[in-house]
Amino acid sequence: MKNNLFSMALEQLDIAAAKLDLNKNIYPILRQPERELTVSVPVVMDDGQVEVFTGHRVQYSSVRGPCKGGIRYHPDVTLDEVKALAAWMTWKCAVVNIPFGGAKGGVRCDPFKMSKEELKRMTRRYTVMVMPILGPKRDIPAPDVNTNAEVMGWIMDTVSMFTGQTSLEIVTGKSIDLGGSLGRREATGRGVMIVTLNTLKKLNMNSGDATIIVQGYGNVGSIAANLLAQNGCKVVAVSDVSGGFYNSKGLDLKDINEYVSTSKNHLLEGYKGDAEPVSNEEILVLDADVLIPAALENQITENIAKNLKAKVITEGANGPTSPEADKILEDRGVVVIPDILANAGGVVTSYFEWVQNIQSFFWNIDEVNRNLNRIMNKSFEEVWSFSKEKRVNLRTGAYMLGVDRVAKALQQRGIFP
Ligand code: NAD
Repeated sequence: MKNNLFSMALEQLDIAAAKLDLNKNIYPILRQPERELTVSVPVVMDDGQVEVFTGHRVQYSSVRGPCKGGIRYHPDVTLDEVKALAAWMTWKCAVVNIPFGGAKGGVRCDPFKMSKEELKRMTRRYTVMVMPILGPKRDIPAPDVNTNAEVMGWIMDTVSMFTGQTSLEIVTGKSIDLGGSLGRREATGRGVMIVTLNTLKKLNMNSGDATIIVQGYGNVGSIAANLLAQNGCKVVAVSDVSGGFYNSKGLDLKDINEYVSTSKNHLLEGYKGDAEPVSNEEILVLDADVLIPAALENQITENIAKNLKAKVITEGANGPTSPEADKILEDRGVVVIPDILANAGGVVTSYFEWVQNIQSFFWNIDEVNRNLNRIMNKSFEEVWSFSKEKRVNLRTGAYMLGVDRVAKALQQRGIFP
């Protein structure tokens, strides 16, 4: 399944391109990444043995601005996956209309089996290997699955040591102490919350009665769950890689947060609160109004799509729904808020961080959240009304908007030389 991710990204692009009747000279350019770099990353492990990891950085498009995208550490990372994620970043930045292109990076490794020092050495070596193509006006990395502010700090330090200049603007998602933006850590989950509440309103569903399932209680999922609960929604089920928990009356998120703050690897495993355990398959088809997949890609398969009960799916994760499942969901009238809109809050706030770093002038949290709200609400409204006008689902509508913006920029720049 994993090997089909880039085909899946192309399939989604093809649907939008056909509806847009895209210029025949532009379309083939958009079907390929501009640049793919694969690097070997030798690391001296704590026991003195050398292990060689494989890393990638894919720059899908720099047509609308510097390439932008996270770095993922995971045993399943492949070039194909990184290409798909880089393509999605391109359309995402265009949908929310920020001046970035799309990129993504990854190292195939199991970070849970590595010590902090090993991870630090791997990060520094990977950074140096991809450094020739990075730069605040070229390509700016950020966190993704299993990378965080600490890893971004190591990247910033490595580049700064090599260039002899403190390069805050080389990477986003840094800690506040290292020039990060207030609100960045929460931004993707906050964006998920904003688009979910907007959708409930459009569907005349009261957020006070809405029940929510969250698959993947990590950065995106846990923040989205907590913010939605603060807005009156009832979060009935959450899960992570170790399994999930369900309570039809609503989970005690405060209790769960306290538990995962000290549990092994911050996992839900072993939680003994007022909830019954559910498997990761079961959680997706439980009774609730909104399902938020916020773990990894390809979670909503055909079978799940046929059986799930949610009326709304907010894609916190990138690519959680297979194209076959998408068709089934459309036939069943399930409203899917696509990843390239739903989880764009993170890259929007990364954009704010980059702007603050370049200007060496920092915003307060109200300013960050006010601008995030403005951009997410506007982008939601644009995708919603455009999709209605063109009589397409929200995914196709979002793709059409994003791809059209990239195509227009490309057409106006012309083809070099
Ligand atoms: P994370 O590592 O903080 O959280 C991922 C969560 O998913 C963890 O709780 C993990 O245990 C869980 N998980 C992994 N495999 C699972 C499985 N099979 N079933 C159930 N849960 C599983 O990562 P994150 O940053 O929250 O990213 C989650 C998703 O959101 C990814 O698809 C990522 O690309 C996407 N995303 C993240 C950001 C961001 O700013 N962090 C921005 C945009 C998109």
